Amino acid sequence: MAELAQADERRGLASAGVGQKMERSLSTSGSISAKVFSESAKSHAAELLRVTKPDFSFNAQSDRAKTTWLGHAGMLVQLPHLHENGRPVRCLFDPIFSLRCSPTQAAGPQRSYPPPCAVEDLPEIDIVMISHNHYDHLDFDTIMALWKRNARHLRFVVPLGNRQWFLDSGIDPGHVVELDWWDAVHLTAAGTDGEEDLQNGNSLIITCTPSQHGSGRLGTDANASLWSSWYLVHSNARGESYRIFFAGDSGYQFHASPGWPPAPTEKGRKQVAARSDDDSPQALHPICPIFDEIAKRLGSPHLLMLPIAVGATFDYLRSMAPVPDSINPIPRHSPGVTAHNHMPPWDAVRVFRAMTKDGSGADGRPVAVAMHWGTFTIDAVEVLKTLGQLEWACEAHDVRFARDLKQYDKDSEACFLALNHGESVTT
Ligand SMILES: [Zn+2]
Repeated sequence: MAELAQADERRGLASAGVGQKMERSLSTSGSISAKVFSESAKSHAAELLRVTKPDFSFNAQSDRAKTTWLGHAGMLVQLPHLHENGRPVRCLFDPIFSLRCSPTQAAGPQRSYPPPCAVEDLPEIDIVMISHNHYDHLDFDTIMALWKRNARHLRFVVPLGNRQWFLDSGIDPGHVVELDWWDAVHLTAAGTDGEEDLQNGNSLIITCTPSQHGSGRLGTDANASLWSSWYLVHSNARGESYRIFFAGDSGYQFHASPGWPPAPTEKGRKQVAARSDDDSPQALHPICPIFDEIAKRLGSPHLLMLPIAVGATFDYLRSMAPVPDSINPIPRHSPGVTAHNHMPPWDAVRVFRAMTKDGSGADGRPVAVAMHWGTFTIDAVEVLKTLGQLEWACEAHDVRFARDLKQYDKDSEACFLALNHGESVTT
């Protein structure tokens, strides 16, 4: 059982946060560096995906959760306090504030949008959950900066086989909790025990749930440590539960045909109408059944954080070719090419539907927040394509697509939200 400490005063700050390492060539105003994006797509992508300064304020009287996208798969979820007059509980998933997701900051996939803030700008963090150890999800400099600032009360919750990495990095063994799939940990406020919390009706239970992915950092440790998604249940004194699902990195269904899903043309619409996705167990490439199972075992989530793009590697390889974009021999990936272990937008919307189909989540009005897109893409076209594909997937699956918080209405229907870097949604 992990213990969650009460608010304490800020400890000595790191002299320079990892977020401050960002090269000045990357704009902090939210526009995209001309150095890394082709001119034609640059202005359109900059208009569509921006960096905004996060607002970490939280209203415990009215908010069940406040979710802030910190770039790539980094998400901060703030939840109401566990005991009277406490501060919000702050859960951070897969944070990365470094310039590159790589074994070295000298080379490797580089972000095109700076982090919306530095680690030092974050409020006190209680729990950091890591989905797996790939470099874009487990970043040494970020973990060290978080530990330095929050060491007294911070707990790392990680899937099986990842604890040793934290201990080797110098983190106190009492602050790292390792869980197998379906194991759960109950977070309590400092000075109380779990029973007391439960009697008060305030509790936070974190379950390590499956995902379809892999792991490895060294080239020799493929799949040696576990990967996971995370499922949180926050219950309040009125006996209401709020359920949250963080998918980490996962696939859903391999798409053998590069033409599926079709483009949002008239022809594509007809194709979709004529053929639904093949969910049958006899399908050549069946869907991953875990999302259905998670919802069945733990309930339909109110809030989902779902990846909608492949990640950094393809774009990075493409950028290595010293030729103009138009004649680059390295192909842009099609959405389905790595759908066995990554979710293209089409699958992310299907997972959203699969996990919320019983309508119990948020009284039938669940919200999904897009992640794992846009940040480490060095090709503006990918930003545009990913957004376009998500909008099309939402339309085809009867989900409201929202880019602007004004388009999101928490009392309206199921909604898939693609926030800007640093933006928050309150649910
Ligand atoms: Zn990964």
